[in-house]
Amino acid sequence: VSDRFFGELPSYPEGSTFLSREELSLAGVHKPIQAGISGSQYEGADSIVLSGGYEDDEDHGEVIVYTGHGGRDTTTGRQISDQVLARGNLALAVSRKLGFPVRVVRGSSHSSPYAPPSGYRYDGLYRVDDHWKERGRAGFLVWRFRLVKLHAELEVAPREPETAGPARRTSSTVSRVIRDTQGTRRIKALYDFRCQICGTRLVGNAGPYAEAAHIKPLGAPHSGPDLLANMLCLCPNHHVLFDYGGIAIADDFSILGEQGVLTVHPEHRIGLEYLRYHRNHYG
Ligand SMILES: [Zn+2]
Repeated sequence: VSDRFFGELPSYPEGSTFLSREELSLAGVHKPIQAGISGSQYEGADSIVLSGGYEDDEDHGEVIVYTGHGGRDTTTGRQISDQVLARGNLALAVSRKLGFPVRVVRGSSHSSPYAPPSGYRYDGLYRVDDHWKERGRAGFLVWRFRLVKLHAELEVAPREPETAGPARRTSSTVSRVIRDTQGTRRIKALYDFRCQICGTRLVGNAGPYAEAAHIKPLGAPHSGPDLLANMLCLCPNHHVLFDYGGIAIADDFSILGEQGVLTVHPEHRIGLEYLRYHRNHYG
């Protein structure tokens, strides 16, 4: 039986500082002495440490693009092979799936304006918002995780992207953002709320229901456009499969990962570059 603890430890509120990894470990804020990710593929990840280990990490404060572990030479620290979605990397993907909060700790050796001047600092709870693979700076595949600070999310929600309407988030534990914008309304109308993959049309007592999936995600660092060319009308099941890399779409619109071909309306010009982006990062 694991004693893994998810969420904030009452004795160590946000801003708590620690002299060393040993102290962090004893406090239970981040238990592994060496590994940057604490967690298992069965339970999910409960904490991470940003300590400058990976040159591919991006720290924007309330949004972090964290690089997974593995594939590095233990002595030089250089990336020498592809990372795989296993161990801590898989644990972070499981936390995304289950909506678990992840404690984020920054170390002074982490090169970011948000790093503490010395030692380590617990900087609050984040949720794993997205995960994908890409070529890192050394040319090998790395797994990347987008983490969004939990409290910040509620403050950020009303802000409107330039071409989009408000992003509505039902609560901080729901991990998928349902956006209702002109574009998403148009794509659903074009397909009359029918899934482009399976043809399902869901009808509840509030009317038909479908989800608009962005092929190249909107959020940083992807920054996909909120255009019809970058959208699909999907049922919730196929939307989840698409976002979690269970299916992808080939240039000829055949479905990769299951049988079938995407239904495409003559007025819907899907950008093949967005399908390629999705295949390369999620497929
Ligand atoms: Zn479907």
